[in-house]
Formats: sequence, structure tokens, C-alpha cells
Amino acid sequence: MSAAIDYRDRAASLTYRNKAFIDGKFVDAASGETFECVSPVDGKLLTEVAACDKADVDVAVKAARRAFESGVWSEMNPKDRKKALLKFAGLIEKHTDELALLETLDMGKPITFAVNVDVAGVVNTVQWYAEAIDKIYDEIAPSDRNALAMITREPLGVVAAVVPWNFPLLMAAWKFGPALAAGNSVILKPAEQSPLSALRLAEIAAEAGIPDGVFNVLPGMGETAGQALGRHMDVDMVAFTGSTEVGKYFLKYAAESNMKHVSLECGGKTPNIVFNDCKDLDAAAQGSGMGVFFNTGQVCVAATRLLVQQDIHDEFVEKVKKVGEMMQPGDPLDPGTLMGSMVDVNQMERVKSYIEIGKGEGAELTLGGRQVRQNTGGAYVEPTIFSKVDNKMRIAQEEIFGPVLATIPFKDEEDAVRIANDTIYGLQASLWTDDLNRAHRVARKLKAGTVNVNNTDGGDITVPFGGYKQSGIGRDKSLHAYDKYTQIKTTYIEFK
Ligand code: NDP
Repeated sequence: MSAAIDYRDRAASLTYRNKAFIDGKFVDAASGETFECVSPVDGKLLTEVAACDKADVDVAVKAARRAFESGVWSEMNPKDRKKALLKFAGLIEKHTDELALLETLDMGKPITFAVNVDVAGVVNTVQWYAEAIDKIYDEIAPSDRNALAMITREPLGVVAAVVPWNFPLLMAAWKFGPALAAGNSVILKPAEQSPLSALRLAEIAAEAGIPDGVFNVLPGMGETAGQALGRHMDVDMVAFTGSTEVGKYFLKYAAESNMKHVSLECGGKTPNIVFNDCKDLDAAAQGSGMGVFFNTGQVCVAATRLLVQQDIHDEFVEKVKKVGEMMQPGDPLDPGTLMGSMVDVNQMERVKSYIEIGKGEGAELTLGGRQVRQNTGGAYVEPTIFSKVDNKMRIAQEEIFGPVLATIPFKDEEDAVRIANDTIYGLQASLWTDDLNRAHRVARKLKAGTVNVNNTDGGDITVPFGGYKQSGIGRDKSLHAYDKYTQIKTTYIEFK
């Protein structure tokens, strides 16, 4: 990020792509309908965006299928597909500030994180899968000597990516990166709250030479456009990130249509366990605070349940409270701001209602709990800590998706593991200890797709990401995600 950039100035002159991107062109929704795109930074209207529905999904799927069957991308020489995706990554990087600004204005995250986490992560993801394309080999099976049994990966066909608003471009990239690398055609449906960066990205993809029909973006509502993708007979896969409730709908849509592949990255209620043998409690408190308040808590892996061994509970909660106090919401366009707005007023109201639920359940409000910066017209909530929470309470069981931490004291290792696993979710867990044996022992017992030891946000694109239990099915990131966008074919050749 260039220090000289004044993001408020840039925001004033920004233009928005607001039509659907189908078959290499921006088009209105067939119905002519639009929806309002309002910034949670200040409550102002940014633009009106095409509201796609079933008719537009049909057109986009036809274009994606045509492109796929033509072989223009699916059968392209791997080294050329790699070149196109590397060019795509390079152009995304070139437009970092513009794309980051679109994220910030559309969903309220601090510009500093939009630049350094979101857009930087997208560039890295596209580059990583591009580089993988010509390094993945197929297999020959150790079958009969008089036969050649080839096991080859083939792209699936038309992949729909239905994504949320908390990391609009990054969640999309974790899907379109490996899906495009494997040779599929992609239809991306961004969340209604955050369509702008995806639409600009579509144009950048075309500039990079991704052929018409291979990368389409359909803004619209989940119940219409999302459902139509989920139920379409010619969509081969839906890759979804969002709530567990909607994830289950996609399983139903697939069952009631063409049995398409479904991968789901859904909710979480991450336990973050601090043992009394952890020597650097300041580092643990910093990691715990950032782990829950980063991105205003609108993160599926937010470390929302802080389990602290009872003899250090009060001392440790005081330290985390200081981190929360430091992260007061500010202007998302100011590079010094660490906490921005909620994604919209609805989400803010939902979070406020959970704060009331917490008070009603008898949890102790230790920090925050209020809406702030009302004069801006935006949607801002303070970092909030409830202490002495019982894990049975709703604030400890349900995904709030806001800056709300529940601290829960525990007795010993066994008690910590029991509380940690007492949830319908299993996306991520973390623990803080200086005892290596304990770290291994507890990590094995935690039912979660990722366990972080002495951190709350470890991992990069090289490691798989996804959940146990109702946190989902399948894995994003790493070569495991690449495999997900392919199917395996056996070709068995007998010698004469
Ligand atoms: P949703 O799960 O509703 O939305 C995720 C995506 O699914 C969006 O693109 C959405 O479209 C689409 N969608 C919504 N309803 C349907 C449907 N019936 N059929 C097909 N697609 C659909 O998340 P929300 O944005 O509503 O957030 C609600 C809660 O979900 C949050 O408070 C949080 O608890 C959780 N959540 C979890 C996320 C995660 O990363 N695990 C991310 C986001 C939310 P559209 O938004 O356009 O309607």
C-alpha cells in the first residue's frame, strides 16, 4: 500500500461496475431489476446493481457450458493456462488499491486489511494455483502387466461459487483459483451486500485473457440467483461459503436436481484455550483479542469462545480487555483504523440482539456492548466481552458474527477439551501452552479442521481449510482444493 494514497479522495472519484458479467460482457439482468448497494461506512448509496435471477442463471450456465465444451480453456495447454492466470494475478496486484477500496466501501473493513490481507491474499491464491497447473502429474495404476491403467484428473465442467460478504474477493478466490486452474468454467455469485469487487474482477479477468464464458459474475439474491445455481441441471458443482443453514439448502438443492458436487465451508464457534502453563500471557492475550475482533468478528474462524484455566481467568481477561479497548471502531478509510463497521445495519442489529441475549442469560458484560459512531450514518459496534459465560448459553453456542467474545473458565485439560468440543461446529480451535506434550495431546482431541497452537490465525494457502461436523464438507486451499474441482477417470487399456 502506498502511504501517500488518500483513500477518501480516491473513494470520491471511484466508478462502479454494476451489471452482471456474462460471456465476456456486462449486461443488465433480464428482468431489468436492480438492488441498492449501500455502504456501511456512512449509510450512503454507492450504486444500483443488476438483480439476477433464474433467467440470468440459465444464460450464464449456457455460456459457461459452451466455453467448457469448446475446450478453449478446459483443454488449453497447462503452461498457457498457467500464463493466463499469472497475468490475471499480476493485474489484480496492479489494481490493489482500487479493489481494496471497493471492499472497504462495500462491506466496511479497514482499508489496511483490505489491502494487506484481502487483495494480497487473492493475488497469492491465484498465483499459487497458476504455478501448480503444470506440476501436478496423473497416475498409472500398478495393475495387470498386460494392461495400462491410467488414472487421470479431468475438470468437472461448470462450477458455481456462492460466497459471503466477510472477505468478498478472498473467499471467491479460494474457489475460482483452483477451479479455473483445473480447467473449469466458473459462475461466481457474490453476496448481495458486497458485489462490487467481484464485478470489477470479472473485467480484469477478461483483460488477462481468460476466454469469454469461462469466468462469469452474477450479482443477485441468494433465494433467487443462489438457489437457481444450486438447482440447475447443468451446473456440475457448487462451492459455497456462508452460514450452516444455507449450506444445508445446497445439499437439498443438489439432491432434488442433478446430484451435483457440493463443497461447504460454513459456520464456526472457535474455542481458544489458554492453559496456566502458558508463559507469555501478553502474547496470548494479543492473539486472543485479534483472533476475535479482527474483521469486526465477522469471520467464520473468529476465536469467539475464550476458555481460560480458572486460576488465571481474571488476570487473563483483563489483558484481553486491554486489546479490545485498543481496537475501537474508526473510519475504515483511515489506514490507522484496526476495526471498521459491520457489513450492514441488519448484521449490526443481529449482533446487538445477541448482546441483549447475553445480558439476559446472566453473563457478565466486561467490555463494550454498544453501537457507536452513530453520527457517521454507518453500522459500528464496540468490541464486547462477556465473562464467566456458561458454554450452554446461546452466546456460546450460536454464531454471532460480530465483535463479541465469551470467556469461559475451565478446571483442567479434560474439562477444556469437553467444553471445546461441546458445539455443533468444528472449523477451527486454538490452544496456548508451553508444554509440547500437552499441545500434541490436546490438538488430537479437538474436533476441528484446523488446530492452532500458540496462535489463533496460523496457516497460509499451502494448508487445507475446512470443517468437521456442521462446519462443512470438503476443504478449501492447498492441493486438496485443486482435487475437489476435478474428477478422476480410469482408462484401462488391454494389450493385444
Ligand atoms: P448466508 O449463508 O445467507 O449467505 C452466504 C451466501 O449464500 C450469499 O451469497 C447468499 O446470497 C447466499 N444465499 C443466501 N440464502 C440462499 C438460499 N436460500 N439459496 C442459495 N443461496 C443463498 O449468510 P448471510 O450473509 O445471510 O449471514 C448470516 C449468517 O451466516 C452470519 O451472521 C454468520 O453467522 C453466517 N455466515 C458465515 C460465514 C462464514 O464464512 N462461515 C460467512 C457469512 C455468513 P445473498 O447474500 O446475496 O442473499
